[in-house]
Amino acid sequence: MSQEPPEKMMFQLTLRRRGISDQAVLRAMEEVPREVFVAAGDRGHAYRDSALGIACGQTISQPFVVAYMTEQLQLRKDHKVLEIGTGSGYQAAVLSRLCAHVLTIERYRTLADTARDRLEALGYFNIEVMYGDGFDIPPGAGDFDRIIVTAAMEQIPDTLQRRLEPGGILIAPVGPHHGTQTLVRVTRKDSGFERKELVDVRFVPALPGIAREL
Ligand code: SAH
Repeated sequence: MSQEPPEKMMFQLTLRRRGISDQAVLRAMEEVPREVFVAAGDRGHAYRDSALGIACGQTISQPFVVAYMTEQLQLRKDHKVLEIGTGSGYQAAVLSRLCAHVLTIERYRTLADTARDRLEALGYFNIEVMYGDGFDIPPGAGDFDRIIVTAAMEQIPDTLQRRLEPGGILIAPVGPHHGTQTLVRVTRKDSGFERKELVDVRFVPALPGIAREL
């Protein structure tokens, strides 16, 4: 049996202690090597439960938040998932272990290209990384069983909710760009969109359009 390094054991323990109980989610968090997704100088901190800076002034989310949002999505092996805000590609990697296909969109070309190369090198072939604007998903991409937004939105655009399949779930941090947001879960029911507020979180802002900088 392979010996787990102590920091990876602590990582799992922290997630469990904070309330993550879905075994499949815990397994996915164990399987995806977070050290590959953080900046080279941060490798030693990859298994701490904190957000870290990445290129283009963005962040890789805190592991607990990644696990929590993933758990709330109630993923199934046949699901087609959309992520807005690729960043490092870490959240997409975790999702990809639990569903059929992930389309992830990023407005910085540098981040999209780096994440694509990284995910390919890891052999995560059921992820498509798109350079583009999450507020303007090409109609050809179709609809999704699950949508996860990993950047703060002041409100959830109706056009985005409408990309959910019947019974579909969307999770997004909703609130002011600077400050605290609330994680909101929207479920598409026959009768309309059902909304539930979950926990307070802090994300970098979702900005319209592709980034002018690389
Ligand atoms: N999920 C990422 C962390 C996301 S940080 C990870 O696991 O590492 C939020 C990301 O959303 C940033 O990279 C930011 O550039 C991106 N973003 C912000 N607004 C966007 C938009 N309109 N379309 C696509 N990506 C966007």
